[in-house]
Amino acid sequence: THFGFQDVPVGEKAGMVRQVFDSVAGRYDLMNDLMSLGIHRLWKDALMDWIAPRPDLTLLDVAGGTGDIAFRYRARGGGPVTVCDINESMLTVGRERAAENGVEGLTWIVGNAEMLPVEDASVDLYTIAFGLRNVTDIDAALRDARRVLKPGGRFLCLEFSRLAIPALDPVYDFYSFKVLPEIGARVADDREAYQYLAESIRKFPDQESFVERIGAAGFGRIRYRNLSGGIAAIHSAWKI
Ligand code: SAM
Repeated sequence: THFGFQDVPVGEKAGMVRQVFDSVAGRYDLMNDLMSLGIHRLWKDALMDWIAPRPDLTLLDVAGGTGDIAFRYRARGGGPVTVCDINESMLTVGRERAAENGVEGLTWIVGNAEMLPVEDASVDLYTIAFGLRNVTDIDAALRDARRVLKPGGRFLCLEFSRLAIPALDPVYDFYSFKVLPEIGARVADDREAYQYLAESIRKFPDQESFVERIGAAGFGRIRYRNLSGGIAAIHSAWKI
């Protein structure tokens, strides 16, 4: 195939992101549970609730990592899923999990969200969960999402966002910048990776700004839902 790591922009961020997920891949699922106290599972379930999976709808799950979104979509009766991630080690863990649990109907591909190795107008649903904030050029990724969707197809993004009650920001900041890196240092022996995580969360656009960015990429009917008071949010939009 023509796509692969060679095609990934060699910007500092891309390299950093790859290194981070390479180093955490084996412990990614455990760390997710630990850091979010298991709440990421509820958020992913909330994403499924909003999608309402159907067997006749194909899903492209970008930055799909170890397959959490893909597994849920299949478990809820959704159609075939392509899991795409820039990082081979994350996909390897996902493939092993799928084999262990007998999950079928999944295809795993290496690719960058900014230039997906996927044909134009070929998928019904596009999801990206906790992935977009790692992408160097968010707007390029949004445009490419629209490119691969069929007309009438739907884009959904689950990502960390801004608290609805700004008075709680100091508490949240303490957790993100003090507690989180400390857990990262002790459990995964990688303080830097979790420092990066906290910083990437702060840099991602807030709910309303992200609505505008999605609109600028050409999507219509843009809506969002806050999860856990805005710690995370799901944005939904349509290619019309
Ligand atoms: N979606 C999974 C989940 O919710 O558990 C994984 C999320 S994980 C926090 C972020 C993933 O984004 C990693 O697997 C990483 O390799 C991937 N990623 C980072 N930059 C990417 C890019 N430009 N294109 C595709 N995947 C990317």
